[in-house]
Formats: sequence, structure tokens, C-alpha cells
Amino acid sequence: MVRSFLLLLFLFLLPRQENSEMSHRLLEQNALPPGISRTAFGKTGDDAAVDLYTLENSKGMLVRIMTYGATVTEIRVPDRDGRAGNVVLGFDNLAQYLAGCPYFGATVGRVANRIARGRFTLDGAEYQLATNNGPNHLHGGLKGFDKVLWTATPLAGAPEPLVRFAYRSPDGEENYPGNLSCTVTFTLTDDNGLRIEYSASTDKATPVNMTNHSYFNLGGPGTRTILGHMLMIEADRYTPIDETLIPTGELAPVKGTPMDFTRPAAIGSKFDKVQGGYDHNYVLNSGGSTVPVLAARVSEPRSGRVLEVLTTEPGLQFYSGNFLDGTLRGNGGVYPRNYGFSLEAQHFPDSVNHPAFPSTTLRPGQVYRQVTVYRFSADR
Ligand code: BGC
Repeated sequence: MVRSFLLLLFLFLLPRQENSEMSHRLLEQNALPPGISRTAFGKTGDDAAVDLYTLENSKGMLVRIMTYGATVTEIRVPDRDGRAGNVVLGFDNLAQYLAGCPYFGATVGRVANRIARGRFTLDGAEYQLATNNGPNHLHGGLKGFDKVLWTATPLAGAPEPLVRFAYRSPDGEENYPGNLSCTVTFTLTDDNGLRIEYSASTDKATPVNMTNHSYFNLGGPGTRTILGHMLMIEADRYTPIDETLIPTGELAPVKGTPMDFTRPAAIGSKFDKVQGGYDHNYVLNSGGSTVPVLAARVSEPRSGRVLEVLTTEPGLQFYSGNFLDGTLRGNGGVYPRNYGFSLEAQHFPDSVNHPAFPSTTLRPGQVYRQVTVYRFSADR
């Protein structure tokens, strides 16, 4: 008797609940500005919900970004025949990101790249960070900005689809000093650019150096290596590194070395001469600027796709996917060595230990700002 009553009650409630959930979802979607949609992307180990935002424009470009790590999971852009395809390495499910991935598409911070031995001194105080990359600190430590949950707010009234991700990194997180309030704003522009604007403020002096770690393959992830891509970098100098990839402090000319991409050249053309592959910081000729300027141009002959990187930053880390080893299977298939490259606009590695490098120190009252645009087009 009780059982059949409960069953009846359940049946009576079920469609209503579904209906109200559906209309709630519809309402939410309707409330989002044009060109932006949101779906659930799973839950973290702490049972926190992760959302996936999709930004679309009328020029055939689509970008997906999730709240875990403010991570770009997909960028679809047209090839020379107008066929849209994904051009970044990633996964189509959260579980694989959580299981461990080499920063695919992630927002990296508090300090991207390496800090020698995880050590620095600021205003007389010594700090010891996690050494999570051989003897050095890499990409913000054990739980950097790529592994935290960001709060996303799609902004209405903007001419182009735009979502702002916010995160407050507490004082002492990963042993960095100061409460740091950060935002990363992703805008999909009408000229097929993904514009990423970072801002941060602090209540204690701290190093800050944020970047995006997308791995690109303009022919499509999982198709072939990136060695046939043509690359040009607007840099006459680079920062030579020691065997643990820490800059020696020298700013050396690229001329006459395999580092020279001042004129477009296939990535593979001098690859054999670079021990371990490219994983170097270029000193951009702009020296850093207040508006984003051209830092690099990459084209892929088969698809005709072109990527231009514009940035306000003084440095550009060119990483040729040397540590990919074919063990990860992602959205386009398997990712062996050199199946993706990153162009990470940032300040130079280990800047906090090199007073002669442009400073990464942010002080109370100052605002950290960096803008980088990944702009896509196709060569005919
Ligand atoms: C670094 C590489 C590292 C990769 C993935 C790049 O920014 O320069 O050395 O392997 O990120 O962590």
C-alpha cells in the first residue's frame, strides 16, 4: 500500500520535475548573451561542478573553455576551403584532464615557466616553492592555476562573446606571498581571434607571470607532427638555457643559430640541431607593449590555416611538444612527440632571480595586465 502510494507520488512528480529542470536550463541558456552557451562538464574530485562555455561567432570560429583551470579545450577554425576543424590538443571529457595532462590549453600561474630551484628572495624575505620539474619550480607548482576552479561570468552587452574567469589565490598558496585576485577574460573577436586578457592585484609583493598553454596543430590534433608548420617569430634574440632549462642570463642573437625564425621557416628545418627540441624563450623585438603587437606567425601548408600571436608581453616561449610521448589519446587521436606546439606569451623564465630581465614583481596598488591574441585565418 505504502509502496504503491510512493510509486504513484513518484510518477506524479517526475514529469513536473523534469519540466521545471528543462525550463530552468532553457531560461539559463536564454539569459546568456548571444554567441555564448554553457554545459555541464563533470565534477572534480571534491565534487565541484565544472562548466564548459562555448563561444561562437558568425565567421565559423568556435572556442570552448572550461572553469577547471580556465582551460581552452577546443578551438575550431576554417581551413582554406572553409571547413572548420579543431586546432588544439585536448580531451572531450573532464576525467582525462583530472587524470593528468601537460597543461593542454590551461591558464598557467601564479608564475608560468621555471623558477630555479624553486627559490627567490623578495624584499628581503626568502621563499621556497615546490620543485616539481627536476630541481626547478614549473608552472605555479603542484596545484597551479591550471588545477583550480575558476568562477565564470559571461558579460552581457559586449559587442563580441566574452566570458570572464575569476580566481582568488590565497596568501601562501603554493608558498607564494600575498592574496592575489586574478581575472582572465576570453573574447572571441569578429576577425577570428581569441583575445585573452589577464589582470591581477595583490596585497603583498609577489611574482606574477600568467600565460595560456594551448598546444596547437593547425592540421588538426592527432594528425601528424607540427614539424612541417612554417614559423616566424618577431625576435632577434633569445635567452640561452642551462641543462635544466633555466636561462643563463644572457640575451643571445638568434642569427646563425637554429633558433632563428626571423624569416618564415619550417619548424623541422633545423630541428635536428636543437638538443631536446625547442623549449626556449624568445626576447620579442617589441620589448613588451601596452597594446598587443605581432609576436609570431605560423602557417600549415596542407590546410592553409594561419595562426598569428599578438601580445603585450616581452617574451614568447616556443615549445615544440618534446615531452609528448604517444601515451595520451585526446580529441583528435593519439599525441606522440611533436604533435603540438605552444607559443606562450609571458615574461622570461626565472625572471624573479634575474634583476636584468623585465620584472615580474607585482606590488600592492599595482595592476598586472597582459593581453594575448591568437588570431586565425587561412592562406589561399
Ligand atoms: C615548458 C616545457 C614543459 C611544458 C609542459 C612548457 O611551457 O617550457 O618544458 O614540458 O610546458 O609542461
